[in-house]
Amino acid sequence: MGKEPLEHIVWNDFLNVVREEAGNQVVETWFKSVDLQQWNSFARCAILKVPNDFVKNWLQEHYLEFIQKHLTRLFNVDHLRVVFLCKQQEKQTPRTIIPAASLCKTMTISQAQHEHHVPHDAATLELAPSTSLVVTPPLTQPKKEKRQGLNPQYVFSSFVVGPTNSLAHAAAQAVSKQLGESYNPLFIYGGTGLGKTHLLHAIGNEVMQKDSTLCVRYETSDKFINDFINAIRFDRADQFRNKYKKVDLLLLDDIQFFSNKEQTQEAFFHVFNMLYEQQKQIVMSSDMFPQEIKGLQGRLRSRMGCGLVADIQLPDLETKIAILKKKAEASAIDLPDGVAEFIASHVVSNIRELEGALIRVSAFGVLIKEPVSMTLAKRVLVNVTKKKREGILLERVMKLVAHHFNTSILDIRSKKRHKDISKVRQIAFYLMKKVTGHPLQVIGTFIGGRDHSTVVHAINKVEDLLKIDQVLAQRIKALEQELEHE
Ligand code: ADP
Ligand code: MG
Repeated sequence: MGKEPLEHIVWNDFLNVVREEAGNQVVETWFKSVDLQQWNSFARCAILKVPNDFVKNWLQEHYLEFIQKHLTRLFNVDHLRVVFLCKQQEKQTPRTIIPAASLCKTMTISQAQHEHHVPHDAATLELAPSTSLVVTPPLTQPKKEKRQGLNPQYVFSSFVVGPTNSLAHAAAQAVSKQLGESYNPLFIYGGTGLGKTHLLHAIGNEVMQKDSTLCVRYETSDKFINDFINAIRFDRADQFRNKYKKVDLLLLDDIQFFSNKEQTQEAFFHVFNMLYEQQKQIVMSSDMFPQEIKGLQGRLRSRMGCGLVADIQLPDLETKIAILKKKAEASAIDLPDGVAEFIASHVVSNIRELEGALIRVSAFGVLIKEPVSMTLAKRVLVNVTKKKREGILLERVMKLVAHHFNTSILDIRSKKRHKDISKVRQIAFYLMKKVTGHPLQVIGTFIGGRDHSTVVHAINKVEDLLKIDQVLAQRIKALEQELEHE
């Protein structure tokens, strides 16, 4: 028996690592269709054969660092490059055309690839017309700071506008046209996976594209908090603040994490004032309305809300279909209209899950070598449709709460603000969250189209009430048990 090639051994080891770290499903969905075709130890270049552009883009976006990290270790080198080679293009692309040693010299970023949103740290090697290989820079190479951590895929042109996000979108566009002049600060809020981060990056990308000399800073609140803690630890508070002095546009994502972080809030308050006074633009996002973020200083809360507060809600069916079509187009997936509608009507929680569903359907098609069809979608999304059936449980909670508290379902769903009705409605929100585990937006929509922050507010209220009202606590516990034992 001949000696097993190094590529096979390493790839099998790698698959085991993926299995351990990311689970078997990830292996089955993504990595089974990929092959480590060639390892060039001289150029430190690993060529991965992928079935199509779609898988290539996905791996590149989600697993690139992971692949680089583990292959670097398994090949026992200090850095390497990963090249994705599409099977579809293989016939046009003889093996020898990949002069791995010369990759560094010939790397160019092709405009076409750029427009197809390849992440900024990947460059494309043009081999022949219609052939694209993606060559990654070595892991050890420092990331280019030029794009300020902005994802080039998140631009206005890839954002689908519908009735539930049009205000946030319009505000974001206005801000990017006139920094610090139209709405300052702009505060975008909405549930997870509804496009807040996308809009923040879109503003940044737009501004950078128009004038790359401007100083744009995108940060998640997590990073802000960590940087601040480190600055305090190493006695570098001044340095921390100076970082923001030159900023023309500050994009701060997921500001709800500032909740109860007194000192960080203090620091942010100063940064905010400093920028605001100089008419520099500030854009923030959060999963709830500023007033509802618990443990936020009053003065910060009022600062956050003093510009424009725009919300994003769950999209309607038409917008979801439009988003699916746009994503499919961008990834060259042939998505029949019926299938788009099927996916859109079954995925109710958020756009991230919508994308995930499309990707699963498409990846499965690639694996079993079938085009995307209704049958395929139904097979893949069996769990999602099962979840939809769980919607029946929401109905059940509603009935039980209405019956138990002597209210009608109609009243619970209504806009009536009578104290007793509001309280029962809040209890319904609370129990739905607890028993069904559905995302808050779904629950909000179910109970008369309430927005995410209303649900958060209601749940917080019930939680507070349960701490002081033992009788109510027992009644709710009994209801919970009744629901769980059905
Ligand atoms: P959030 O920050 O609100 O949790 P993201 O901005 O990360 O959500 O969005 C999740 C995914 O959904 C991203 O891939 C984003 O591109 C996509 N997405 C959200 N809204 C839209 C939209 N209106 N059009 C196109 N894609 C969208
Ligand atoms: Mg986000």
